[in-house]
Amino acid sequence: MLQIEHLTKIYDPYVLAVDDISFTVPEGQFLVLIGLSGSGKSTLLRCINRLVEPTSGRVIWKGVDITALPEGELRRMRRRVAMIFQQFNLVKRSSVLTNVLAGRLGYINPAWSLVNHFPRTEVGRAMQMLDRVGIADKAQVRADELSGGQQQRVGIARALMQQPEVILADEPVSSLDPATSHSILHHLEVLNKEEGITILCSLHFLSLARRYADRIIALKAGKMVFEGPPAEIDEKRFKEIYGEEAEVVEIK
Ligand code: ADP
Ligand code: MG
Repeated sequence: MLQIEHLTKIYDPYVLAVDDISFTVPEGQFLVLIGLSGSGKSTLLRCINRLVEPTSGRVIWKGVDITALPEGELRRMRRRVAMIFQQFNLVKRSSVLTNVLAGRLGYINPAWSLVNHFPRTEVGRAMQMLDRVGIADKAQVRADELSGGQQQRVGIARALMQQPEVILADEPVSSLDPATSHSILHHLEVLNKEEGITILCSLHFLSLARRYADRIIALKAGKMVFEGPPAEIDEKRFKEIYGEEAEVVEIK
């Protein structure tokens, strides 16, 4: 269980990006964050694993206050709370396989990684993860030669190398076309439903949120303006979240 308690982030110079947000995520939930660009989704997700340091408030995961963890323990925690990024964050010139193995760096002797030599068992595991997302045949290809959807699958495989209990996915499909978006979200759904990995995922489109979320949290200017099951977001709620002017234009 993940508890967010009165989380606030103020960037310097003064930008109140996340404003006193509290919620709890039960283990195994597929939670989707929605909200306009600039509403604080990335900041909130990054505060959870402290890629961004919260200004105040606490993040408690399985009874441990993450916000108070010293560096070494924080690193151990980050293995269990993997992250997937909008722009994939792959090492473009490296092979797909090397990128996936990078997800495992916290576990193995850093000397191995320096020379790009990984234990055989690790390579085997990386290949298994690539197989799970359907791109084992691309293992030796340079990351930047893949399509966006394929690159995001590498991102998922890299996250899986960490054997995560939680995946934080920050707009993982916002640079992808609708069909590819569904295929990526489907992979996350399988990990959630079949392996019980808790997912916190920000999404731009409400239709995608509705399709994949067990529960939706909406942010507006850093505040939580909705929390509940997808079915509760009707047109009125939609306008509260996205503004009166917002057109209900949706991708299927
Ligand atoms: P979203 O992911 O919903 O688009 P963000 O969390 O990226 O929202 O941004 C929330 C607010 O914080 C915005 O006003 C943004 O401009 C601001 N912001 C984000 N990152 C930084 C930063 N590193 N420094 C200063 N302001 C930032
Ligand atoms: Mg963002």
